[in-house]
Amino acid sequence: MNAELETWALRGDLLDFTGEPAWGDLQPRALRWRPGHWLLVRGHRIEAVQAEPPGPDWRRVDHSGRLVLPGLIDTHVHAPQLDVLASYGTELLDWLENHTFPAEARYADERVAQQGAERFVQALLRHGTTAALAFSTVHESATHALFDAAHRQGMRFITGKVLMNRHVPAQLQDDVPGAEQACRRLIRRWHGAGRCAYAVTPRFAPTSTDEQLAMAAALLREDPSLYLQSHVAENQSEVQWVRELFPQSRSYLDVYGARGLLHRRTVMAHGIWLDDTDRAQLRDAGATIAHSPTSNLFLGSGLFNWQQAQAAGVSVAVASDVGGGTSLNLLRNLAAAYQIQAMLGQRLTAWSALHAVTRGAAQALDLGHEIGSLEPGATADITVWDWAQDPAVQHRLSLARGLHERVFAWMTLGDERLLRSVVVAGRAVALPGHSG
Ligand SMILES: [Zn+2]
Repeated sequence: MNAELETWALRGDLLDFTGEPAWGDLQPRALRWRPGHWLLVRGHRIEAVQAEPPGPDWRRVDHSGRLVLPGLIDTHVHAPQLDVLASYGTELLDWLENHTFPAEARYADERVAQQGAERFVQALLRHGTTAALAFSTVHESATHALFDAAHRQGMRFITGKVLMNRHVPAQLQDDVPGAEQACRRLIRRWHGAGRCAYAVTPRFAPTSTDEQLAMAAALLREDPSLYLQSHVAENQSEVQWVRELFPQSRSYLDVYGARGLLHRRTVMAHGIWLDDTDRAQLRDAGATIAHSPTSNLFLGSGLFNWQQAQAAGVSVAVASDVGGGTSLNLLRNLAAAYQIQAMLGQRLTAWSALHAVTRGAAQALDLGHEIGSLEPGATADITVWDWAQDPAVQHRLSLARGLHERVFAWMTLGDERLLRSVVVAGRAVALPGHSG
């Protein structure tokens, strides 16, 4: 079948956003709710959305009574860390040393890396994620394998070889000239290839020398269409360590900021321990915080104050941060995000939450024209979900007074087991191991 020529239409309860919902607003104008509508797909793109059924030349796929969302977007996740999900007993720095670095070292083996890449990409899709900004490992060959696996699925996918030339085990250390050459080769091969793009990826400030951070900044200056992803202010011991390593820097964030690493296409994971000056710096750069709720809870890193960041004008997306996070499924991460805000005395609406893994995440990646909405002209990355499967949950949803209550309960109680269909660039993806 030629996907370029195929036309088909999907019916369901369509939910997406036309703007950013205000904090706490249960009935935002930015919410677009179109129950029982038809979404028309031609080739790779969404052509139209309409209430009436399409003509006889459109193949019909009827998901009536199911929820249709844009494909979910994970703005921070580590491909090799599926292998360390749910590792017991550590906080960030010893978690890296005891669990993560040994797992990442195995990716030096090309076969391990290829199989891991395939497993990761399939797992993303099975969890409802059709686009991601992901960390690879330090290895060039493993990064090729990861791009290749995502490219074959036609996914919008951004990744990069991890830069780390100190404070990591010897077999995971790169050096500045070698890393630069590897980055350049990967950029030439993958940045702009299909739906792939390259992210310059210093792991975090402690594992790169000044010279390496300067090299990363030079790559961004040369080509501002490159992404930059890293971690900032996740855990208090880490913040203290950065203070010792970079005594001249005003703050952890400013280690990156002063070196030119914060720009429109920068995504910094976590950002829990920031101050007002940091938030203003992120806002002015147009950079994004990838809030990673299950990771922050699992590693005991801290409670991210989302409302404070949003009030300061900082772009916030929600991410899984697997394997610090405990699930690739972004609904589970949104449920955890609600709980974190509750601990801070705040209430996260389902609208702010879902926006942060669809339109908000797309905008964070500078891809609002392509993904994150059900707008005609956008690429047809779509997910279809049951509202509930369990009879008790079905009953609870039937009692909902209004749309927010229903969607909030769905989001809080749901996970990847509710996923019925995933469409990437107009093509329905087979979900192995998935019933129905
Ligand atoms: Zn991370």
